[in-house]
Amino acid sequence: MSDDIKIEGLVYEAASSPDDGEAIAPRGVDPSFTEEDLPIDRSLRPKMIADYVGQEKVKESLSILIKAAQERSDCPDHILFSGPPGLGKTTLAVVVANELGANIKTTSGPAIARTGDLAAILTNLERGDVLFIDEIHRMNRSVEEVLYPALEDFSLDIVVGKGPAARSIRLDIPKFTLVGATTRTGLLTGPLRDRFGIAYRLQYYPPDELARIVKRSASILDVEVDAGGALEIARRSRGTPRLANRMLKRVRDWAQVRADGAITEEVASQALEFYEVDGMGLDSMDKRVLEVLCVQFSGRPVGLTTLASALSEETDTLEDVYEPYLMQQGFLIRTPRGRQATPRAFEHLGLTAF
Ligand code: ADP
Repeated sequence: MSDDIKIEGLVYEAASSPDDGEAIAPRGVDPSFTEEDLPIDRSLRPKMIADYVGQEKVKESLSILIKAAQERSDCPDHILFSGPPGLGKTTLAVVVANELGANIKTTSGPAIARTGDLAAILTNLERGDVLFIDEIHRMNRSVEEVLYPALEDFSLDIVVGKGPAARSIRLDIPKFTLVGATTRTGLLTGPLRDRFGIAYRLQYYPPDELARIVKRSASILDVEVDAGGALEIARRSRGTPRLANRMLKRVRDWAQVRADGAITEEVASQALEFYEVDGMGLDSMDKRVLEVLCVQFSGRPVGLTTLASALSEETDTLEDVYEPYLMQQGFLIRTPRGRQATPRAFEHLGLTAF
């Protein structure tokens, strides 16, 4: 290979590493990954489909995809998982690899800064590997274009040399399965979206499923929690397993110091009250979003950037983290003129609608 092909800066990230500094948020219920989640996350992450709680349709469809590919001794089609942070996209990517008995290489869209980075990743794959790209919507466009032939024909077009001597050569790469994860399918370009054979949208978990996750995590962590305690944590976890696990940790601390260590419904309720998580799972930041909409803007529609600056928050974080749950719970709607609080939001805050 010519010296002109520079393959630099390749970093395979650990499957459960925090993606970057901005993910380290001070919020108790921010479902973004934080450093603090690392040990808990590794041990609690389900390894196989049978351990993965909920998302039944997704699991069933994945099982078929995996079994069919195995019977043909082939790689499954490329898979896209989308949904808000903390719902189990990374976990599912690892589960897919484990079920296939394949190696998984993990990276993220922003980590693949140059086409050379992607070329290095792709040429280092072995047949049957799973390549997981988190936050795939944040991948550079020029890098994305190199990915297209790799996904379709398992080949890589690279330019060798410079100026008039430059020529394009095509390299074959081993057949692999790409698993992409995104919090926003809408930000994926059409050509990239079309190259996934199957796309799954993960849904928020109902309380009974989250309670099962809390129970499972509690037994791994050796924490005593009864059915009422697990359900109370589940109800206040914004439908998000990562939050349920994190709340369990916080409640465990509280139960240890302020009670006898066992998590009952009452202990969980008092602990979560202490951490300012209300009965709907809304924390102080969620409530601020609603307060700004209901009080500061008197229930009128508010543009996303205006709302974000009123809250001193990034527009992306508002869209990815806060809005989906508030919308799902019927507290907030998107209108052509902006975000608007619903009568339910006024009611929840104990206010009268204007
Ligand atoms: P995402 O990639 O969507 O942000 P993760 O896959 O990192 O979310 O999941 C966050 C944590 O929640 C994981 O560490 C795992 O322990 C837990 N988790 C997610 N989904 C499930 C599930 N269906 N069953 C059990 N635990 C889960």
